[in-house]
Amino acid sequence: MVTPVQAKIQLNQNDPVALKAWIKAEALALGFSDCVIAKPDAQAELPRFKEYLKRGYHGDMKFLEENLEKRADPTLLIPGTKSIICVRMDYLVETPKPRYVPLEPNAAIIARYARGRDYHKTMRGRLKTLSAKIREKVGDFEARPFADSAPVFEKSLAENAGMGWTGKHTLLIHKKSGSFFVLGELFTSLELPFDTPTTKHCGSCTACIDICPTQAIVEPYMLDARKCIAYLTIEYKGIIAEELRRGIGNRVFGCDDCQLICPWNSFAKKTSIEDFHPRHGLDQVSLLDLWQWDEATFLSCTEGSPIRRTGYQSFMRNIAIGLGNADFSPAIIQALEQTRELHDEIVQVHIDWAIAEQYSKN
Ligand code: SF4
Ligand code: SF4
Repeated sequence: MVTPVQAKIQLNQNDPVALKAWIKAEALALGFSDCVIAKPDAQAELPRFKEYLKRGYHGDMKFLEENLEKRADPTLLIPGTKSIICVRMDYLVETPKPRYVPLEPNAAIIARYARGRDYHKTMRGRLKTLSAKIREKVGDFEARPFADSAPVFEKSLAENAGMGWTGKHTLLIHKKSGSFFVLGELFTSLELPFDTPTTKHCGSCTACIDICPTQAIVEPYMLDARKCIAYLTIEYKGIIAEELRRGIGNRVFGCDDCQLICPWNSFAKKTSIEDFHPRHGLDQVSLLDLWQWDEATFLSCTEGSPIRRTGYQSFMRNIAIGLGNADFSPAIIQALEQTRELHDEIVQVHIDWAIAEQYSKN
């Protein structure tokens, strides 16, 4: 439906200011929480990123070492790109308790973005719809949608166009919306006026650095992924270093702690997107319930979910750590001992540790 305001706008590629205003209105109507127009230039991010790689903080994510030129210059990734439409989708379904409220020790904590359906398809689908709507108005142009799917410094592009500022925890924050959102981009050949960066508002706060259970934020704006629970429980496939296991606590897929403690998240908005609503009770499931999942149950309960990507054995490894960190319970010890032989050697290392931790609390 064309709103009265939109109807007044005469659209063509020769009136980029009006076109930009119309695109933003259409993006919001499609369910995106924000939309900014970025210059296709992320060179400024390169020195920090090279330092991050040099220190080895990316761990096993070797793909990050590739395509640095394309990351810094999006016109090398998609030649002819003149502007990038950056969008945001909020993903909270309810206002979370702040991180200082103690966690239920036997509950399995799954990062909030991952409790429902994988958002990537929806993000790309809506970006394609947006490009189709623009095409209807202004005629043909080149457009490529991305959602965490190509070598793109997406945070940096969005930040340069005022979507928020990079917090000390390295995530983007918006003053009125917090940081619980995911990003997407539409690379276009349209010449649109670029938006400008916003101011930074971390000030002297260090709450995210102080709360991080594994001290992964090694200095403001620098994250050692090798210590970060999100990397360890999702990307990393091996044996998790023993000194990090207690810090992982009961977080079995990702971690929200640095976001939960951030004062700007008291302004976080709830999502309008159905995909983020929890499925299979994954917002209130116990560690022991998840431990009962065999591989078939894992596959059926994680169909279309980001959790599927980590694989059954890595998921079980994470739950074993959670069970080791849970309050002493003969039922937990029994469950771990009875199922040990069903799992691979990597999981067994964590089961043995969890059993020893459990006995040490008796
Ligand atoms: S996600 Fe968790 S482990 Fe990673 S930096 Fe934030 S608080 Fe630390
Ligand atoms: S917790 Fe504080 S330092 Fe960390 S991102 Fe939020 S405002 Fe910045």
